[in-house]
Amino acid sequence: MTTAPLELETVTPEETRDAAAAVAGLVAPGDVVILTGELGAGKTSFVQGAARALGVTEPVLSPTFVLVREYRGDVPVYHVDVYRLERIQEVLDLGIEDLLDPAGVAFIEWGDVIEQLLPTSHLEVRFSAPDDQRRRLRMTGHGSWIPRWERLESALVRWVAA
Ligand code: ADP
Ligand code: MG
Repeated sequence: MTTAPLELETVTPEETRDAAAAVAGLVAPGDVVILTGELGAGKTSFVQGAARALGVTEPVLSPTFVLVREYRGDVPVYHVDVYRLERIQEVLDLGIEDLLDPAGVAFIEWGDVIEQLLPTSHLEVRFSAPDDQRRRLRMTGHGSWIPRWERLESALVRWVAA
């Protein structure tokens, strides 16, 4: 089960972080947020905004040398970056379910998403960069996100794309 897509547009990295903070207001332990899109599309900026809203005070950087970084917030916040191809093999080897902590919230940056690997319930955010400043964020909710969709739309109304 999937929601209708929600299309957002931001024009600064701070706006992308603010939109992510609004999403963070609706997350629950065990949630998985999948971020897809090219390098520089804004995936890490999004994680920074969400993590900050979840009480993480440490700076969130791209987890280049490790597959998963854990941050202490109001809940454990996991930042996974499988953008690089060799990381995908690690995810395949470990199994995505074993990477995930039911007590935490996971943000997974993924280049080309492998749908079959995703948990049934997740929020997907597809980023694109029409120019230097603008970013399109196309969100779709799966499973447990469906009953939250109206609240998510309300929280993000400011960034809804024309
Ligand atoms: P990714 O993780 O997808 O590679 P990052 O968040 O690390 O992307 O980088 C996004 C880059 O784009 C940053 O250099 C940021 O300053 C720039 N940028 C410009 N406009 C935006 C925007 N509206 N939202 C997010 N990032 C933006
Ligand atoms: Mg990144």
